[in-house]
Amino acid sequence: MTKGAPSHPDRRKGHGHGHQDSADPSRGLITSIAATAFVIGFRYALADTNPPSGDPPASPSPSNGAEAILPGFDRFPRAVTVTRADSIYRIECGNLPDHGMMVGIRNWQQQVPTPQPYTGANAWQLPVSPVLAETSLSCRNAFYRGAIAIAANGVPIFNPMKAPNEDVYLLGELDQWGGHADRSDDYHYHVAPLHLQELVGIDRPIAYALDGYPIHGETETDGSPVGPLDLWNGHFDAENRYHYHGTRTYPYINGGFRGVVGVSGDEVSPQPRTRPFRRAGTPLREVVITEFSATGDHDYRLDYTVRGAPNRLEYVVGAHEVTMTFTGPTNTPRTETHRR
Ligand SMILES: [Zn+2]
Ligand SMILES: [Zn+2]
Repeated sequence: MTKGAPSHPDRRKGHGHGHQDSADPSRGLITSIAATAFVIGFRYALADTNPPSGDPPASPSPSNGAEAILPGFDRFPRAVTVTRADSIYRIECGNLPDHGMMVGIRNWQQQVPTPQPYTGANAWQLPVSPVLAETSLSCRNAFYRGAIAIAANGVPIFNPMKAPNEDVYLLGELDQWGGHADRSDDYHYHVAPLHLQELVGIDRPIAYALDGYPIHGETETDGSPVGPLDLWNGHFDAENRYHYHGTRTYPYINGGFRGVVGVSGDEVSPQPRTRPFRRAGTPLREVVITEFSATGDHDYRLDYTVRGAPNRLEYVVGAHEVTMTFTGPTNTPRTETHRR
């Protein structure tokens, strides 16, 4: 993100949810977290923050197995590598995003962000040439497992609904960037990362649905207002190319798939697996995550309150091991090590 710039979209419009209200008071905090992240040398995206240029999106590389360019991902060259293999783009990523995380969550499963190895055989896949499906698939009552899209910065995007009528955003489970750490301590979004628009430029997608169609932000690529959208948040442009848009209300991202996707069980297939270090946590009530910071290359600190009482979780994460130290107002610090 651009230093000092607002680091998330102003999502106050039209909603009444707690974490949006915390946006303004915490803005300074967010900036300080971001600054910390930069100081300790996140390997992600300093160079990824080039101001948007007016360049047209680059054409996909025709070469097989070579690095390819997909507009949007090209703005995050340190975080995301795209290669083409026959009719598939392989998207390798898995490091944590360079923006703040976790702040604003008030319904927390006691999970924390850790890097995930979405590389090699475990990379994401997108079709080079998306194909419209004869029958569209809705995400409203399906695809509760796994991702349904991937953001330009390499962060997966999961279904905004985690079960029938359970909107993760409305439940307060998301941070100010629309993400959280879920059951595998994997960080992902559940709504459109509209905050990426200023980083990728207005002419580039902020994400891609796993059917391969791009997801644009709140305007068309020339800055004009978005026209009527179908049930899946998509429509065709003047050249009859289908694309989705991110919105601030349901479905937020692609509400389904107009394009062909493979399906296995309740998820798009194939898609990468997360690699958990430990069992999933249990929901913590009356919690507010107040600060998340990187204190070293692999060291993080999460501050939160439980019924108003301050708590802290510090953790160090490596490729195979995470060590977590919990400090509460009354207990002596408790340290756990988990291996994957
Ligand atoms: Zn989730
Ligand atoms: Zn459009």
